[in-house]
Amino acid sequence: MANNATDGYGALFNPFSICNVEIPNRIVFQPHFTALGSADGLPTDAHRSYHEARAAGGAGLLIFESMSVHPEGKMSRHFVDAWDPKVIEPFKKIVNAVHKHGSKFFGQLTHSGHTSLEHPTPIMWAPTQIQEPYTNFMPKPMGKIDIKATIEGFAISAKNLISAGFDGIEIKIAHDGLLRSFASPFFNHRRDEYGGTFEKRMRICIEVLEAIKKSIGSDVPVGVRLCLNEFTPWGYDLDYGLKMAQHLEASGFVDYFNCDAGTFSSYWMEIPPFAVAQGSFQNLNIALKKQSKLPVIAFGRLKEPGLAARIIERKEADFIGMARQLIADPNTPNKIRTGRSDEIRECIACNTCAHQVGRERAIRCTQNPNAGRENEINDLDASPASKSKMVLVVGAGPAGMKVAEVAARRGHNVMILEKSDRVGGQLILAAKQPLHDEVLSVSHYLETQLRKLKVQIVFNTAVNAEVIRESGADVVVLATGSRPRLPENAARKYDFPNKDLGDLSASLGRQVLPQIPGINGENVYSADEVMHGNSTIGKRVVVIEESGHWESCGTAEYLADQGHEVYLITSRSMVGGDLEGANQHLFVERAVKKSIKILTNSSLLSISNSGVELKSSMDPNNSFKIPCDAVVPIIGRNSEENLYIELVDLDGIKVPEYELIRVGDAIAPRTLELIIYEATLVGSRI
Ligand code: SF4
Repeated sequence: MANNATDGYGALFNPFSICNVEIPNRIVFQPHFTALGSADGLPTDAHRSYHEARAAGGAGLLIFESMSVHPEGKMSRHFVDAWDPKVIEPFKKIVNAVHKHGSKFFGQLTHSGHTSLEHPTPIMWAPTQIQEPYTNFMPKPMGKIDIKATIEGFAISAKNLISAGFDGIEIKIAHDGLLRSFASPFFNHRRDEYGGTFEKRMRICIEVLEAIKKSIGSDVPVGVRLCLNEFTPWGYDLDYGLKMAQHLEASGFVDYFNCDAGTFSSYWMEIPPFAVAQGSFQNLNIALKKQSKLPVIAFGRLKEPGLAARIIERKEADFIGMARQLIADPNTPNKIRTGRSDEIRECIACNTCAHQVGRERAIRCTQNPNAGRENEINDLDASPASKSKMVLVVGAGPAGMKVAEVAARRGHNVMILEKSDRVGGQLILAAKQPLHDEVLSVSHYLETQLRKLKVQIVFNTAVNAEVIRESGADVVVLATGSRPRLPENAARKYDFPNKDLGDLSASLGRQVLPQIPGINGENVYSADEVMHGNSTIGKRVVVIEESGHWESCGTAEYLADQGHEVYLITSRSMVGGDLEGANQHLFVERAVKKSIKILTNSSLLSISNSGVELKSSMDPNNSFKIPCDAVVPIIGRNSEENLYIELVDLDGIKVPEYELIRVGDAIAPRTLELIIYEATLVGSRI
């Protein structure tokens, strides 16, 4: 590919070779589990379209996710069985689809060893019978016959992939899997030729590499995804990681390194969420590049084109590895190359994708509704509408903007009415939470698209039935969002008025209903009020966490950062229970540092001027009090539906003369990923 890059990022678009395979540019789609594999271990058509989209988007090299080399080495039921020759034919279609766009395609091989996503796990293999500390399941210590079968499995699997047309092979001595545990002094206590000294711990890795080279020929590139630092108290550090790299390189069987860090027990470093700063792992990339004569792929939240180009220019690495950025926007390389970096849909490091596949469900992305669904939807290329309609969207939050974007792309004439003076809706409040500013990339991207599509957004406009009638719209989309679930917000016109439920909430063990004595007090604030910057809130604040998500955790942290003394209290067994694991872990770590007092298994009984009364599920016969100046009960949200009720009446009898659609939180409050997906579907069918 010619170096025709603009914006000064040309360094990213110079070809570079690994062995005799020329990679057209420096952007690598990193291997990651997608859970798109079939239940019988085959690659699928969903894999084909997923990878073709990234190849079409301009990535120079794609590395297909970890595949198992042995029937007892599958980390998930959705792992592809590379050892099985049945994979060759379906893989040929996927390889061809990638090659069609000029990209090169490598495949990553692993034995999952003592790590599994299944729960309970199948029998797992390990050098020694020591469990990964994150898990409760013990592996089987391997015999020599198992080691031999594993090495043979790598060789057979590599041959299968090369037969299918892959351009190279990568093995994983990285965040999960067997080979890293053999190399690790913590996990490997063997006293035979595969343990006891550094060389013996590395022996299986060298034998695997040698067997692969013998099986596919020395001219086919073979690389190693290498964990350079395990980032656990018991794990190995960068010095040890570099020693491993040196040993592997000296074997002569390795053609490139792909950097990595973290393990299943430190997965916040393996798939770093937004709390881990971009480029945090650059010291690891640089250290390996300095030491090695082989091509090096850098890793670690490298989404920003300027940073990526600088790394290449300064020779701190030869390639830039991107996984999540290309999940969020497969066209990132092409946008950088053609001077459209301002149109990139940035990964916000929310880790919804990791949360999803960690539960063995097909990959999804908050920003990109197409991810993992490339065969089903395309928000950028939905089919043109048969008739152009006047579409009026009420609300410029993510749901409203996404409907507007997709509808406008399809040829509709779209206008958005927004009651505030800016776009974003709840994203604006979410972005005020500590370390959450990247979430604004969602509204920034959508706003940029709407501007290009010439969608008019009218701000500071309150909407009622008359405004809608006078607009003459053919289709009205209500994206009015939601509001905190507090008594004055929760009651709908057709609910029982102020039904007194006594202490039912407390007896439920959770405050799912906002009927708590004292909840209407002047010392009670909603999360939205707090995040809007209510200055009168007192020093000592109790946040009641019944959302399991960022609304409560982020609000508590925001208050702590503002100098408040904060209690975060939940009736559940943990706070932030619905957060993705890495985010949840790092939140609790920060909460402890910020002196947020976390109280679990505690139900709110009542609120008074002087504090809250609680009941612990550990001691249900006794209540206890916590003095405080303010209480922020976060017990869910309710749909903002007054306008909808005004338009259709309570029973839906009034039939408007236009098509009326609700979307997003206005129907039922949900996660951002689901809202964007639903809005895409709505925009696609208008
Ligand atoms: Fe990035 Fe979140 Fe999408 Fe994953 S789900 S790729 S972290 S935006």
